[in-house]
Amino acid sequence: MVLLEERICRDGIVAPGGVLKVDSFLNHQMDVALFGEIAKEFYRLFREDGINKILTIEASGIGIACITAQAFGCPVIFAKKSKTKNIAGEVYSATVESFTHGNVSTIIVSKRFLTGGDRVLIIDDFLANGSALSGLVSVARQSGAQLAGAGIVIEKAFQPGGERLRAQGLRIESLAKIKSMDGGTIQFC
Ligand code: 5GP
Repeated sequence: MVLLEERICRDGIVAPGGVLKVDSFLNHQMDVALFGEIAKEFYRLFREDGINKILTIEASGIGIACITAQAFGCPVIFAKKSKTKNIAGEVYSATVESFTHGNVSTIIVSKRFLTGGDRVLIIDDFLANGSALSGLVSVARQSGAQLAGAGIVIEKAFQPGGERLRAQGLRIESLAKIKSMDGGTIQFC
């Protein structure tokens, strides 16, 4: 998506440790007009898939997921990062390792909001090592819902998540795919 790549080049900052900072337009201050264009693109890609639920993970996926859900005319569920255990069995859960913070957390989604009759699209801001996306895929599969695929705003293709999950048969549509950020220069695939 040219508009997104141009914005990444203009306002993205390459930080140490393979981290791309896009907090001026994507995941701190949010450019809602750009989100609208991103949502249109996700809708174009998945419009034939009968999506009735969008699934994302807190916190930075929520904004994009909400605008995308508006395009599909369906609700958003965000997986919560929880410290409580699933004692009563009323939630689906998975463990996720944070790329940016380095900690492991349990994510939960209430069984009330995702069931076997649903057709789900996962949306997230970044795909790096694939832990967040794997956790969301696990939650979707536990529910018995049909998983149409994942829409990702920025995939860092030099990290292994995308290749690993595609090899497992998951359809992943990434709107910007970064091949390398060596020396602070961003190159797209
Ligand atoms: P993964 O689980 O694929 O390793 O990482 C995905 C999650 O980590 C995303 O939900 C995103 O919040 C965060 N993340 C991964 N890489 C980056 C990055 O380069 N920049 C920012 N801002 N967030 C990232």
